[in-house]
Amino acid sequence: MMILTDQDGVLADFELGLRDACKRIPELRDKIVEYKDRVNFSAVKDYPEHLRSRVASIYHRPRFFRNLKMVSGARKALFEMLEDGHEVRICTAPLTNYRHCVLEKFEWVEEHLGHDFTKRIILARDKTVIRGDYLIDDKPVVEGSYDSPLWKRIVFDCPYNKSAVGIRLVDWSNWRQVLKGG
Ligand SMILES: [Mg+2]
Repeated sequence: MMILTDQDGVLADFELGLRDACKRIPELRDKIVEYKDRVNFSAVKDYPEHLRSRVASIYHRPRFFRNLKMVSGARKALFEMLEDGHEVRICTAPLTNYRHCVLEKFEWVEEHLGHDFTKRIILARDKTVIRGDYLIDDKPVVEGSYDSPLWKRIVFDCPYNKSAVGIRLVDWSNWRQVLKGG
């Protein structure tokens, strides 16, 4: 099988990185939205209007993506997929403001998964045009040019995607059962 997996929120802990950065910014320190309280896919939308540009500036600055922690169990799961004979691709949409994030996404994959894994990266703003059997993604709705993508959607469970339709992966340790069920 060809398994496509998203990077941010699925492999790289974007949410933790954002909260940690907020703790170091005086005007945001007391306003941090805890993970369990996240409602919108776009983190800035969970913050009051007057703080949004300040929050967004966190992930536009150098080294934000580079320094994200790995989501628990993700590394093990990716290598298990390869051991099981599956094809794996990291299918990630860079920020529109791509300046730092594109390079740093590659550096992050190299550090956490090894240089060979960088060959598995697919940068795609429109993931519906990518062919695969499954797409594991935390975005509530993955839309694009094609209404019926070739992959089957697996929702990587997060507080902000509870309403998303699809098979749900709550924990990486459970990936085999979830894909079997799908
Ligand atoms: Mg994501």
